[in-house]
Amino acid sequence: MRLILVGPPGAGKGTQATRLVEKYTIPQLSTGDMLRAAVAAQTPIGIKAKAVMDAGGLVSDEIVVGIIRDRISEEDATTGFILDGFPRTIAQAEALDEMLTAGGLKLNAVLELRVDQTKLVDRIIKRAEDAKSSGQPVRKDDDPDVFKQRLEAYNRDTAVVVPYYEKTGHLSVIDGMQSIDEVSASIESVLEGLDEKV
Ligand code: AMP
Repeated sequence: MRLILVGPPGAGKGTQATRLVEKYTIPQLSTGDMLRAAVAAQTPIGIKAKAVMDAGGLVSDEIVVGIIRDRISEEDATTGFILDGFPRTIAQAEALDEMLTAGGLKLNAVLELRVDQTKLVDRIIKRAEDAKSSGQPVRKDDDPDVFKQRLEAYNRDTAVVVPYYEKTGHLSVIDGMQSIDEVSASIESVLEGLDEKV
């Protein structure tokens, strides 16, 4: 199963990806997580990406495409994967298409978590508070001002990925304003529908 989760920051992609990992025993490939790990390890990519990430901007296509290219060729991704946070631009979507075609692999579905953006800032404030109260580190980019930058970057650069996959016929829209369990159930019914089509 090869899936892409798309939606603005705070839409619940990470939460749903974690559930899909358990259900399908395929890895979640989050470019955000990989970049944060690179920043923490102070690798050359991490050093380059840090300032852009802290400001809520987008890291270059070249860097993230390189990261994904390496990652999907690893052993645990051979039976499938869930892409979370990638592709974020048309150039990244095209690069992914090329990688899949070159490997003779096919994409099963692109799930868009559609949310009311006016409610997202409240959601992100809650995420920061929850992390704080459970003693976990609060992401620097979950600051409301940086979050607004990330939302702008999504609307400016990434929202175009949705019509791209609508055209390819891969897109399914999920109501991301439902409860976490309801969103999971909606995703499940889309994926079960895919099985039936096969
Ligand atoms: P995320 O955890 O997906 O919200 O990503 C956190 C940050 O990492 C983003 O705000 C970007 O700065 C960077 N990032 C993650 N994925 C990508 C991507 N596919 N393209 C460009 N930048 C990315």
